[in-house]
Amino acid sequence: MTEMLDRRARARGPNVPTFYNEPVHIVRGEGGWLWDADGKRYLDCYNNVPHVGHCHPRVVEAIARQAATLNTHTRYLHDGILTYIERLTATFDHDLSQVIMVCSGSEANDIALRMAQAVTGKRGFIATNATYHGTTTAVSQLSRRRPPIGGYPDHVRLVPAPTTLTPLGGSMDAQGAAFAAGIQTAIEELEANGSGFAGLMLCPIFANEGLPDLPDDFLAPTAEVVRAAGGVLICDEVQPGFGRTGRAMWSHAWMNVAPDVVTLGKPMGNGHPVAATVARPDVMAAFREAFGYFNTFGGNPVSCAAARAVLDVIEDEGLVAHAARMSPRVVADLKTLDFRAEAHIRGRGQFYAVELTRDGAPAGDLAKWLIEALKARGVLMGVIGPARNILKFRPPMPFDESHAALLMTTMEETLATCPI
Ligand code: PMP
Repeated sequence: MTEMLDRRARARGPNVPTFYNEPVHIVRGEGGWLWDADGKRYLDCYNNVPHVGHCHPRVVEAIARQAATLNTHTRYLHDGILTYIERLTATFDHDLSQVIMVCSGSEANDIALRMAQAVTGKRGFIATNATYHGTTTAVSQLSRRRPPIGGYPDHVRLVPAPTTLTPLGGSMDAQGAAFAAGIQTAIEELEANGSGFAGLMLCPIFANEGLPDLPDDFLAPTAEVVRAAGGVLICDEVQPGFGRTGRAMWSHAWMNVAPDVVTLGKPMGNGHPVAATVARPDVMAAFREAFGYFNTFGGNPVSCAAARAVLDVIEDEGLVAHAARMSPRVVADLKTLDFRAEAHIRGRGQFYAVELTRDGAPAGDLAKWLIEALKARGVLMGVIGPARNILKFRPPMPFDESHAALLMTTMEETLATCPI
């Protein structure tokens, strides 16, 4: 282990963290399970990328077959990308019918920002103050994790994110209007400082912000403010997309909004690096007019085969309905556990959050202890939220009753040994 950590530091440089005090060395995955180098098995409650299950045989087979036949860029004609885009866009409403395929969520979001600039001729962007949208220079400026060198640029405004425990505007009922008011103020500032307002980027379920409880019409006032200002509404579905939230393929449907642009990534290829920006034809035309755009690896035949197999499995295994069925059960089970703190339990499909507080204050120490102790007992999950006090679990979608039962027993046993 030490030798591997040393090699890692030599090969990859400093400040490349691993999860856990003592990192895990994973060597194999199957369905909802991972195994480490010592043969220890872990229930994977963390990874949403292996959406249809680690190493799903249909995805593996599709990748292998296409890799053995042809893999090139998209400057030649190929049926794979066309079939995939037709299949994918058939799952969207709001005339979101054209697609650019790329290799990461960051690239997809970067394109979405440029689409907003192409449509509006303006430069300014708004996101929340507790999110993450990726790694490119433009997109990383929308993230609070690491301030850009020289500080946040004038064309970026990060507005207060919605929460469950201290709602904007003082109450759950007022939160939708208060969030929209924050955006309206940011729009006015961007217009006043000469940047102008190009677009708003947000995850419709605010996953990185901590998956707050929000009513279905929460985003209605926000969409109105964005439209009235002539801006572009971008929904980042990199985390909640492909049916994770259980009610529909896309989480913006849950929130009743009509985005102009939607970005996809993580689960799209079950681990194969494929991502996409989906837009209306008028938005796509403005972007292509302004920028053209070619991505060497984006939309290659192997990526499209992987992505198509993922759609097939979601459909054939009924995974969206499965998420809807599992969600209330898991939430109810979690509510029976004694977390030795106030536990605010939320679920949207197979995306769960347990916000831990003591006397109303974030219990980040407890969350940290719990994920370490669960890992020792063979269960992997993570933490989110600005105070790192929200347990996050988004297991591979086939997570079922038997996995849930093991999770609950392990959590119960772990909590019983909690020293803090
Ligand atoms: N958007 C969101 C909401 C994300 O959570 C992430 C990654 N965590 C990204 C975009 C970036 O995706 P990628 O790492 O594939 O570039």
